[in-house]
Amino acid sequence: MNDDEIRQMRISFNKLDERRTGLLDTPELDGLRDRVAGIRKLAVEKTEELLSEAQRRFRDNGVEFHLAEDSDEACRIIHESLDGGPVAKSKSNTLSEIGLSDYLRKKGVKVIETDLGDRILQLAGIKKPAHPVGPALHLGVSEIAEIVRDKLGVDISDDPYEIMAAVREDILSKIESCTTGVTGANSVAAHDGAAVIVHNEGNVGRLSLMDTHILVFGIDKFVPEIEDAVSVVKLETAYATGTGVPSYINVISGPSKTADIEKMLLRGMYGASRVIAVAVDNGRSSAYPEALLCIGCGSCIVSCPVYNAVGNRFGYRGYLGGRGVVMSSFLADRETAVESGLYMCTLCGLCTEKCPVGTPTASLMERLRGECNAAGLYHRSHLRVAERIKRRGSPL
Ligand code: SF4
Repeated sequence: MNDDEIRQMRISFNKLDERRTGLLDTPELDGLRDRVAGIRKLAVEKTEELLSEAQRRFRDNGVEFHLAEDSDEACRIIHESLDGGPVAKSKSNTLSEIGLSDYLRKKGVKVIETDLGDRILQLAGIKKPAHPVGPALHLGVSEIAEIVRDKLGVDISDDPYEIMAAVREDILSKIESCTTGVTGANSVAAHDGAAVIVHNEGNVGRLSLMDTHILVFGIDKFVPEIEDAVSVVKLETAYATGTGVPSYINVISGPSKTADIEKMLLRGMYGASRVIAVAVDNGRSSAYPEALLCIGCGSCIVSCPVYNAVGNRFGYRGYLGGRGVVMSSFLADRETAVESGLYMCTLCGLCTEKCPVGTPTASLMERLRGECNAAGLYHRSHLRVAERIKRRGSPL
């Protein structure tokens, strides 16, 4: 991100903060926060149990369920489930974590982003988002209009509605030939074998109606019941967008089916006849349990002084800010955590204060720094200082 983009991102963050004021300080939200914090804590403690329950329930519901140990395995499972045609994709941190788009592109499969912000980034050739729910928040309207005019060859003004219409027409024409939709999931109810997905644009609904719907999510998305999953996504929406409920909440618990002809079970009436769930571990089993409490609202980066100063260079792939850095040490390795900004954090703790479930990012950062130091992984400038002290007896 350059300085202008960081400035634009801060303007967008301020707008979000204004929109959230009032909504977050109500007794209803207090109750919801407490409830979800309890749900997440319990879910993290019982991940293994919930995983085996989910596996059984999804299969009972007619969903093909896979557990992928790492990104490569997840991408391979998804690739082997495709029919060779283009794939329509929604916004998802897990999909960017496993690098699905790059993997499929290398295999010759075209991937079409269907979320407006993600499609703008795709057209611009930008890989890293600015916010988990608002990937293009760092781009101004004129810049976005220029990208769209240039990449789609359309004659539009800087009017946001004209931009939206042009991108929508482009996406719709491209996904016409897609038979597979790939989405993430915001929360997954293990006892019900159901994935809950929130969205405002309506794109996930379209993807879930394609012949095959592939759901991809981390094993940290499990909660016990569907009511828990709905509570999680309601809280996530309030913090991420400043609205009480999203425009759409999709619950996917199996293929489209009917038994209206002689009670024979027929699949694929309107929606997907094949639903595939891919649960991704990718290091989560060995992660600090507190780092898995996160519900993905992105509130931590809005208040983070470092993120507001340097932008998305602080974080790892779609996991932005301090919590992203902590996760990178498990999703990738400790070297990646250092490169993602482990030593940039001020340990101010503002992210925890603003986190609806109290993820203790600052103390996790300290713990990780201690482990990295013990393994000889220091910040480059600290190493230079240490070498000077050794050589000259002075840090200067
Ligand atoms: S503790 Fe670190 S990650 Fe959290 S708000 Fe402060 S600088 Fe950002």
